[in-house]
Amino acid sequence: MAKASSKQITPKSEDFDRWYVDVIRRAELADYTPVAGCMVIRPYGFALWENTQRALDDMIKRTGHQNMQFPLFIPESLLVKEAEHVEGFAPEVAWVTQGGSEQLHERLAVRPTSETIICELYRKWIHSWRDLPVLINQWANVVRWEKRTRLFLRTTEFWWQEGHTFHETWEQARDEVDTMLGCYRELAEEWLAMPVIAGRKTASEKFAGAEYTLSIEAMMSDGWALQTGTSHHLGQNFTRAYDISYSGRDNTLLFPFQTSWGLSTRIIGGVIMAHGDDAGLILPPRVAPVQVIVVPIAQSGDAGGPVEEAAVRLEREAPSGVRLRVDRRDGIRPGEKYADWELRGVPLRVVVGARDLAEGRVTVVRRVDGEQQQLPLEGVAARLPGMLDEAQAAIRARAQRLLDERSVEVTDLDGLRQAFEVQPVFASGPFCDSPECELAVKQAVHALTVRVLRADRRPDGAPCLGCGRPADHVALFARAY
Ligand SMILES: [Zn+2]
Repeated sequence: MAKASSKQITPKSEDFDRWYVDVIRRAELADYTPVAGCMVIRPYGFALWENTQRALDDMIKRTGHQNMQFPLFIPESLLVKEAEHVEGFAPEVAWVTQGGSEQLHERLAVRPTSETIICELYRKWIHSWRDLPVLINQWANVVRWEKRTRLFLRTTEFWWQEGHTFHETWEQARDEVDTMLGCYRELAEEWLAMPVIAGRKTASEKFAGAEYTLSIEAMMSDGWALQTGTSHHLGQNFTRAYDISYSGRDNTLLFPFQTSWGLSTRIIGGVIMAHGDDAGLILPPRVAPVQVIVVPIAQSGDAGGPVEEAAVRLEREAPSGVRLRVDRRDGIRPGEKYADWELRGVPLRVVVGARDLAEGRVTVVRRVDGEQQQLPLEGVAARLPGMLDEAQAAIRARAQRLLDERSVEVTDLDGLRQAFEVQPVFASGPFCDSPECELAVKQAVHALTVRVLRADRRPDGAPCLGCGRPADHVALFARAY
């Protein structure tokens, strides 16, 4: 591990964007590469993604899905079959035109998403209503040619899972879309400590080729929104275009209803921006690669003494499942080690010093709020899971407080403008969901978008804030990454 100190991080209040990049690079989560727009995820960042991935993968399997793997390339003739889909993705597709020294007679798209190839294959595999439902998922990398990139948030190549399902009825597909959005919510809130607002995207923001798209939106600590997971009802748009038909229960020929849903490495950017502070990352314990860092403060010539003995004891007694590490690096002052692990967002630091130890104690410091406790060495290891749960809850509560403090209600466009004059917020208000009013909202405040039509709110009879006509929805308005 390279030496790093918080002095090298731009303060968040000074420049949020620079702070974000500084934290990612100093904490060794990811970095730029010689390939424009493509990032490298370094081991510490990948461990964070793996823990997140494992939690979601368990949910995907718990809800009845199986993983499989599709090709990286999609022939052009397949990609263009669903008109709205190809129009939506065309500007960002990367093409392979040559293999070795041979010019290809049909160019191949590097997958931007896999609906098309999946439909082509399932056309061969779905014959009867007995073949439904199909519930599958793929963990993969995809490529979308981006002009402006940001580490984790928007990169030309990124990593994700894409779930794809086929059902007999529209309602079954609707339930699937809801179930998977529920899994994303569980991941965001219970694992990543990010409270989210769920709802439906407007027509202009939905997935290209979908009937409708649901998403969850989390508030970053600068008040901007991040879409952290999406779940799409595709209706029969693709199954008709790709001619996936099956014989139904009454022997008539039918088209199945389809869904797809995805969550990507983008959510790691969310964890960084939702929780981090001027000293660096603040990682929720449930996904933190290192949950407890033990820093022994040994005097010179003290090797094998009581301080080291206590560190070894903590390693030995830590309950299985607790990711504990001892920082035994030589020649680095304790203060530097503290700053290093704060930068990396490790939830708990246990300081083992000779003076404390003489009284049978160690000091435990919590990253999220700096809370310190002096605890008896005896039994402290067994208390770590409880303390990690408390740290997880504290991070979640802190994010919830921010969301509550920076959420406002608005009833007209003037109110919306005023709400954003001081700082970016999450504004909610009655909305008719017409393209005209969506445009009016975008023009009222710079960079503002309709994030979702909130699933948790019904209008109380107030008129649409754009046109004054009856409003069927309460919309969430925010600036978004
Ligand atoms: Zn309206």
